[in-house]
Amino acid sequence: MHITILGSGTCVPSLERSSACIKVTDGTTTVLLDSGPGSLRQLMRAETEINDIDLVCYTHLHVDHTADFVPLLFASKYAPLPRTRDLAIMAAPGFRDFYDRLTYAYGDWIVPENCTLVWLDAGRPAVFGSLTITAAPVRHTPHSIAFRLADSSGKSMVYSGDTDYCREIIDLAVGCDVLILECSFPDDQYHEGHLTPERAGKIAAEAGCRQLVLTHFYPDCDPQQAVPGAAKKFRGCIHAAHDLIEIKL
Ligand SMILES: [Zn+2]
Ligand SMILES: [Zn+2]
Repeated sequence: MHITILGSGTCVPSLERSSACIKVTDGTTTVLLDSGPGSLRQLMRAETEINDIDLVCYTHLHVDHTADFVPLLFASKYAPLPRTRDLAIMAAPGFRDFYDRLTYAYGDWIVPENCTLVWLDAGRPAVFGSLTITAAPVRHTPHSIAFRLADSSGKSMVYSGDTDYCREIIDLAVGCDVLILECSFPDDQYHEGHLTPERAGKIAAEAGCRQLVLTHFYPDCDPQQAVPGAAKKFRGCIHAAHDLIEIKL
């Protein structure tokens, strides 16, 4: 499994950090987890064609996690060649309705002609190539979910999307190799519905993951200080993500 964090930032415009987006591939199957604004350009930097994506997973409907869904659909119709393979979507409850409402605004410009959007039920595991994808609700918006991807060799990664400390993310992440958690704010600026370094470290410790990767840094959260903050609770390996960081399992 090869993980690339395409965007380690938030809704705050940044030349350093693009909005939330992670690419996961087993070598043949490519999965995108969230696609905030700027994700399509980040995909190009990771040398990935948009038509290579098999499945897009969305944790929730916030703009910093979904905005490039529209450009993805629009570009898939035209460039560089129209997409002909189906595109699967596994997303938080309400996403299908969200897409239908987007078509009221954009019309047929975002309705594929040469391929089909396949809507998967996030309540059930999905298998793509050697990857099995499962989802669980987390504490952010009422319909937010997190994803776990496991390959056939037993390696696994979990991505929180946006969440607060909750039992569900711990249960989803039990024993995983890499746990990628949002780390929006420093510990002295806790906002309900988001994590801080210590809260992220607590989740990693209770889940017993091997490695913790912190991402989704608002400007007030210094990644260099976030690592020792999380280390107060978690003794395993901790990294602060930056855009295009790669993790190979
Ligand atoms: Zn966010
Ligand atoms: Zn959010």
